[in-house]
Parts: sequence; structure tokens; C-alpha cells
Amino acid sequence: MEDSKTKKGTKKRCSFCGRPEDEVDFLITGMNGYICDSCSTQAYEIVQEATGQHSSATSFNRLKMDELPKPKEIKEFLDQYVIGQDDAKRFLSVSVYNHYKRLLQKDTKDDVEIEKSNIIMVGSTGTGKTLLARTIAKLLKVPFTIVDATVLTEAGYVGEDIESLLARLLQVADYNVAEAEQGIVFIDEIDKIARKGDNPSITRDVSGEGVQQGLLKLLEGSVVNVPPQGGRKHPDQKMIAVNTKNILFICGGAFDGIEKKIAQRLNTHVVGYNTSRKTAAIDRNNMLQYIAPQDLKSFGLIPEIIGRLPILTYLNPLDRDALRAILTEPKNSIVKQYIKLLDMDGVKLTFQPEVLEYIVDKAVEYKLGARGLRSIVETIMMDVMFDIPSQDEKKFEVTLDFAKKQLEKANLARLQTA
Ligand code: ADP
Repeated sequence: MEDSKTKKGTKKRCSFCGRPEDEVDFLITGMNGYICDSCSTQAYEIVQEATGQHSSATSFNRLKMDELPKPKEIKEFLDQYVIGQDDAKRFLSVSVYNHYKRLLQKDTKDDVEIEKSNIIMVGSTGTGKTLLARTIAKLLKVPFTIVDATVLTEAGYVGEDIESLLARLLQVADYNVAEAEQGIVFIDEIDKIARKGDNPSITRDVSGEGVQQGLLKLLEGSVVNVPPQGGRKHPDQKMIAVNTKNILFICGGAFDGIEKKIAQRLNTHVVGYNTSRKTAAIDRNNMLQYIAPQDLKSFGLIPEIIGRLPILTYLNPLDRDALRAILTEPKNSIVKQYIKLLDMDGVKLTFQPEVLEYIVDKAVEYKLGARGLRSIVETIMMDVMFDIPSQDEKKFEVTLDFAKKQLEKANLARLQTA
């Protein structure tokens, strides 16, 4: 605008907010003025809201009490996708049901306020923690996001601010704040923000306690100003206020070495009379099943955080049988996915049963866990997937010989680092 140029020097300025060209990222020139990037984004949002396009853009449901699945139904749904982990499934089903019941309760006349029940799952990597959380979100059709706690740092330090957690949820909900406020956030690797040791170090514990303090605010429920683009706060960014009161936080972590803390606690508790019987009953191969909140504290989570994650559950290590089942049983098991992929090319794919046993053997031998199953199947199938679509063949059977040949060719050891 000529006006803006002459009055306030020679700089071009946004005709809406008045900021000069060098203070904005982008300035669009119009017939009679200018508009900067942030004003144009804001204008777009205002139009969307005014024309009602905002909420129709997403496919998420507003939950209703009569549609809320009962704990049994939630567990049955989880059973279709996740093998084993019965304890975790039951804990999750009940607490998710209660969480959404709390959220949907209408009358608060009786002053009985149901408290929020965020969840923490402890279990080795690749045992199904993320899968469980993701499957629940799928069932409820609520916005869901996964964030890695390791990228979070205290405000002002390199890394992502705690608020970025919510920015992702907002993105998934297509910036529909009301829907995001009913969503689920899965915070992975929560164990990585544990305080390192008991002695406060000379340098600040940027990734530890400070982050836990920041997280606390979100977990307990408060209104947080979220930078829409996530990441670092931009001084001029318009913030979106998100209330975390009804957001369900599910945390997961491997907590490597926590077994020792559990063992120590159990040993100190069973001294004296009747000791031998009690100790004998402890299954030393799976100490996680005895996990208690105080073990998380010994590991380095601050008591306030533990208090805000009242539902504590664990995942079992996956044994051979579980791995074998994971290959074929879940509704979208890796084997079913490959059969479907080839079916789309008109090819009927089958696996000799020995092949499946062989795949499991290799996953166990190379300690690849459930994630490794996928890489092994992918390695075996790569050449087939490449060739078959251009051939006339209408069926393909994966034989043990073929599988062995493919894996040997690929050098399985490589998968270990994958
Ligand atoms: P983590 O415990 O590290 O969060 P994930 O849930 O991401 O592990 O599991 C990694 C992958 O391994 C999943 O995507 C899934 O394919 C498979 N998997 C792991 N555990 C199970 C399980 N109990 N049932 C079915 N699949 C599983």
C-alpha cells in the first residue's frame, strides 16, 4: 500500500498487522495493500470457522455414552490385533472405558468427580505397547498421536517444547480443538526422561527432571497454549489454547534394568517368617509382572509424575509361541498383508508351514523380536514382489528352500541393526 510506504518509511508493511516486510516470513502484494503469512493463515481459519468447514473436515467421532464400548468389547477388539498381553489389555480396557465415561458424565450434582486415569505401560521394546495404544484409538475413532519423549526438552533448550506434543494431536484432529481435547497421546520412551542418578549434576539435567516437570502440567489437565506448527515457539505465532483435562495420556517405556529394582524391593519385603515360600513363588524370568509405582520412582521418575499415571501395567516378553502367532493371527498380520498384496495382482500366495517356523527361529536366533518378523518376511519376499506382477504365474508358494536361500543371500545379520 502506498500509504504504508510513505507514512512509515520505505518499507512495505502488512496492511492488517502493520509489521514490516523484514519481520514477517512472507508478504503477499495485493492491489491496494499487503498481507503477511500469519495474517493470511489467520484469515483462512476465520473463513473456515465462519463457513462451518472446520469441523466437517475430520472423520473423528464425538463419543456418545451409548456407543462407548464396554471393557469386554474393548478387550475383544484388542485381541483381534494384539497377541497375548492379557493383563495389559484388561488394564487398558477398564481405564479407557472409565476415562471416556468420566468425560461423558453429564450431571456433576453429587460432587463425585471421577479423576483422570492416565496409563503407563512398562515392557521391552517391540512387545506391543504402541500397538495397544494405537488399536484403542482406532476403536474409539479419536485423534491419536505418538510422540517420543526423547525429543522433548525443557523450554528454552534445543529440542522440542512439551507443547509440541499437543501440536501433533491438533494436526491429526485437523485443528478441531474440541476433538483434539478428547484424543489420546501415546508418549513413547518415557523412561528416557528419568532422572539420571541421585546426585544433581553440575550441568542442568535438561532432558530429565525439567521435562518431567513440564509434562506434569499436561498430564494433570490444564490449558496449554500450543504453537500450531509445533516445534519451537515462534514469537509471532498465534497460539491455540488446548485443555488437556480430557486428553488421555498413555505412556510406554522399556525401563531397562528396572527388574533389578523390582527384585530388590521384593527381596527386602519378604524377609522373615514364611520367606522361602514367597520367594519361591516369584517368577524370576518375568519380573515386570510385579512392577509397582515405587519401582518407577527408584528408576528416576518423579513422584508427581507417577501420581499422574495411576494405571500401571506391564507387557510380557514375547516367547516363541507368541512370535509364531503374531506372524499369522492378528487381523492385519504380516502374512495376511502379503497375501492381500499379491491377491491384488491376481496371484494366490501361500507359505509352507515350515517357513513360518523358520522365520520365527531366525527372529529368536538374532534376537529381532516382533519387529524383526516383518523385516525377515520382507527380505524373503522382495524378489517375488519384484518379479511376480510382470509374470503370468497365478500362484506362488513360499517353500522352506526358497525362504532359506533368500535370507542367506540377504545376510540376516544386517537386519540386526535395522
Ligand atoms: P513397543 O512395545 O516397542 O511399542 P510396538 O507396539 O511398536 O512395540 O510393536 C512393534 C511391532 O511388532 C508392531 O507393529 C507389531 O507388528 C508387532 N507386535 C509387537 N507386539 C505384538 C503383539 N503382542 N501382538 C501382535 N503384534 C505385535
